[in-house]
Amino acid sequence: MSESNFYDYLIVGQGLAGSLLAWRLIHEGKKVLVLDDAHATSSSMVAAGVINPLAGKRFNHAPKIHAWLDSVEATYTELSEVAGKPFLQWVDMLRLFREQEQYRYHARLPGRKDIQDLLGASFPPGKPPQPVNAPLGGFTQHRTGYVRLPALLKFLANWLREQDALQLGALDHDSLKITDGQVAHGNIEAKGVIFCDGYRSMDSPWFGYLPFAPDQGEILTLQAKPGAGADELPRMIINGGVWLLPIDGKRFRLGSTHNHDTQDNRPSKAGAAQLLESMRALLDHPDRLELLCSEAGVRPATSDRQPFLGTHPVHPELHIFNGFGAHGSLMIPWHSERMLDWLLAEKPLPETSDITRFN
Ligand SMILES: Cc1cc2nc3c(=O)[nH]c(=O)nc-3n(C[C@H](O)[C@H](O)[C@H](O)COP(=O)(O)OP(=O)(O)OC[C@H]3O[C@@H](n4cnc5c(N)ncnc54)[C@H](O)[C@@H]3O)c2cc1C
Repeated sequence: MSESNFYDYLIVGQGLAGSLLAWRLIHEGKKVLVLDDAHATSSSMVAAGVINPLAGKRFNHAPKIHAWLDSVEATYTELSEVAGKPFLQWVDMLRLFREQEQYRYHARLPGRKDIQDLLGASFPPGKPPQPVNAPLGGFTQHRTGYVRLPALLKFLANWLREQDALQLGALDHDSLKITDGQVAHGNIEAKGVIFCDGYRSMDSPWFGYLPFAPDQGEILTLQAKPGAGADELPRMIINGGVWLLPIDGKRFRLGSTHNHDTQDNRPSKAGAAQLLESMRALLDHPDRLELLCSEAGVRPATSDRQPFLGTHPVHPELHIFNGFGAHGSLMIPWHSERMLDWLLAEKPLPETSDITRFN
C-alpha cells in the first residue's frame, strides 16, 4: 500500500455533515479522504438550509441554542471569507399562528430571559407586517436565516479536491475490510471510517441498529411573475406550517412535505399540489408566483430527534456523524466541533447525541 492511499479517516458522504467534519479534521492536520457517490441520495443538495431556533408549533428551543447559533455564525462566516462569497444569510422570520393553542405557547416566551434576542414584535390577527394572511396573528423571530447549501457544498468539493481529499464513488458495505486498527476499501486504507452517509446509514451492517426515522420531503422553487410588485411578495421568511423563503428578490423556496412511508427522492405531482395549495392560503397574492421546479430528498431523521455521534461499540475503527433530521444547517457546525473533540482528544460527546444512549 503506497503511503498516498493511506488516510487517518475515510469519510463516507460529502453532504453538509461529511464536508464540515472533513474541513475541521484537515485543519487539524489529519489526512482525510471523502468518498461520495455524486450526491445520489443527498438531503443537503435539496434542502433550503433554513435556520430556525424556535422550531415546531410549541416554539421550543434546544438548551444549547446560543452555542449552536454562535457556531453557525463562526463556521459559515469563516467559510464565506475563504470562498469570497456569502453562504449564510440572516433574514427575520414571520411566524404565523395556526391554532389558538399557540397563543399559550407564545405567551410563555417573554418569561424566558435567555431567548429574548430571538423574539421580535407580535402582531394582532389580520395585521401582519408583510403581504400574508394571518387570521390568528403571530410574531417576528430574530436570528433566523438560511444557508446556501448547494453553493457551499460545491465550494467545499473544490477545496477538498485541491487537498486530494475527495473521490467520486460509492462505499460498498460488503467490500469494507475491518482489521485491528485499520480499514480497507479497494485500494483505500485508513485508520478509521466516519459514516456521514445520511439516511442510508440505516442499511448499514454496523449502524443499522440505531433508530433512524427517515423523513422524505418535497420542496419547490418558485419565481415572481414579470410585473409582480415588490410590495406584493414577502421579504421575510414566512412560517405558517409550510414556509416560504425569499432567496434573491425574485425567487422563493416553498417547503416542505413530510412523509415517513417512502424513501423516494423523486418529486411527485401530489407533493407539489399540496405545497401550492398551502401557499395559496398563506399569501395575499399567490398568483404572482409561478413554479420553476420541484425536488425531493430524505432527511436523516431519528426516532428521538437527536443526532447520532460516536464510535461503534465493537469496532473502534468505525464512527458515525449523522442523524441531523430537518435541522442540519443549525446543528452540524456545533456538533462537528464536538465530534472533532471526541475523535482527536476523546472528550466525551454530549449525552443527547452520543450513540451510547442505545447500548
Ligand atoms: C425537502 C427537504 C428540505 C429541507 N430543508 C431544510 C432546511 O430548510 N434547513 C435545514 O437545516 N435542513 C433541511 N433539510 C434537512 C437537511 O438536508 C439535513 O439535515 C442535512 O442536509 C443532512 O446532511 P448530511 O450530510 O447528514 O446528509 P446528506 O446531505 O444526505 O449527505 C449524505 C451524502 O452521502 C452520500 N452517500 C450515501 N451513501 C453513500 C455511499 N455508500 N457511498 C458514497 N456516498 C454515499 C449521499 O449521496 C450524500 O451525498 C431538508 C431536507 C429535505 C429533504
